[in-house]
Amino acid sequence: MATTNTKPFSCDNCIECCANVPVSAKEMVTIRRAVRAMPQEQIDRLRGQTRKTGACPLVDVENKRCTVYEARPWLCRMFGYMEKAQCPYNKHIKLMPFAEAQKKFMADVGASTQEDIQAVGVLGRDITWEKGLVRL
Ligand code: SF4
Ligand code: SF4
Repeated sequence: MATTNTKPFSCDNCIECCANVPVSAKEMVTIRRAVRAMPQEQIDRLRGQTRKTGACPLVDVENKRCTVYEARPWLCRMFGYMEKAQCPYNKHIKLMPFAEAQKKFMADVGASTQEDIQAVGVLGRDITWEKGLVRL
């Protein structure tokens, strides 16, 4: 995902995996809060950008960065570090087994049941500026 320069690899100037990201209800609350805090000009600019099919509505295509970095979903944080989410440019990274990653997900977001982490939508597919983010 579009991240700042974090170890062990950097996503600077890459937004390639910013697409089709499932989000839980709790994550949507955090994302909506972050979007509400954006200046209207930024929202208008993001809404006006041309995106590839499935691209996350929150990615700044022009500047190649995440506009809700602090509020980005867990999968965005884990991309490149777990099975089923390998970064094509950083294949040297040892991936966390998927089951272990799911347990970590639940612990990280304070979830006690699978329902707590169930996706309510997918950024770029059914959560777009026109659907899901428009009525904030
Ligand atoms: S995880 Fe990989 S594909 Fe995704 S933004 Fe970072 S460098 Fe690009
Ligand atoms: S929230 Fe969107 S823009 Fe931000 S890192 Fe995730 S996919 Fe990329």
